[in-house]
Amino acid sequence: MIILKSTIELNNWFIENINEFGENMGFVPTMGALHKGHASLIEKASRECQIVVVSILVNPTQFNEKADLESYPRDLDNDVIVAEKAGATILFTPTPKDIYGGTPYAEPVDYGLITSTFEGLSRQGHFDGVVSVVDKLFLAVKPNRAYFGSKDLQQVAVVEKMSSERHPKIKIVSCDLIRDENGLALSSRNIRLSDAGILVAQNISQELQIVAERVKEGRDVIDSVEIAKQNLKNVEGLELEYISGVNDQTFSISTENRGWSHIIIAARVEGVRLIDNIEL
Ligand code: AMP
Repeated sequence: MIILKSTIELNNWFIENINEFGENMGFVPTMGALHKGHASLIEKASRECQIVVVSILVNPTQFNEKADLESYPRDLDNDVIVAEKAGATILFTPTPKDIYGGTPYAEPVDYGLITSTFEGLSRQGHFDGVVSVVDKLFLAVKPNRAYFGSKDLQQVAVVEKMSSERHPKIKIVSCDLIRDENGLALSSRNIRLSDAGILVAQNISQELQIVAERVKEGRDVIDSVEIAKQNLKNVEGLELEYISGVNDQTFSISTENRGWSHIIIAARVEGVRLIDNIEL
């Protein structure tokens, strides 16, 4: 694996080497602090592509809270080990200034419900930043396939929409959500949780699991979500932001007992914002 620290280094490398790799380049954009969730995306990309570019960039324009940006975990030494072991060919580590060609700035985007509900509502401007950085990274890397985790379910829908409009030749590959042995969805932010916080956070996936089982048994989605909501509200140390059934293509909320694909959730534990979802 080689490390390229700027778009100029990346371009030069492509000019010298691209003929070797033809038309089969996979791309895994990340914000670093890599864990097994990221590794699973890189492994999938390396199974499906001849060359895999992994980018690490803590993108300032997608953070709506300054404290979250400042405390976002960074660990490049470990990232190098994880990315290489998972099969990355290139680790691309540009600065925000390099990728944005100056001061980072995100144009507002409006994809209707996909960008205005849930994460779009709770984190104003978040998807503007996501669209902006993924667009610029796609322009820099020019991949054939790009891999995103379904942990960030709404992000996948937003990226698919952006890509269909601006990069129709790039195939967006949605990858499975990876959990730890206790069910907690892996996230770079988990490192900021204490042992007690991790126990509290486990309630999130446990309740999602219960809702999915109830729905499988034929119970009402809205009622099942409501029960989970009440249970989570009673968990000390957990601050629920939302829990809801959604359709992962439209992010519309059905008023009936059909049309749902997932249950999504966002909650805070020890000030750390966690998201998770389960397929129905
Ligand atoms: P991030 O570094 O948090 O921006 O994530 C980079 C990519 O890894 C995104 O496509 C995420 O959805 C994906 N990812 C993060 N955590 C997980 C996980 N637990 N399982 C699967 N994919 C994940």
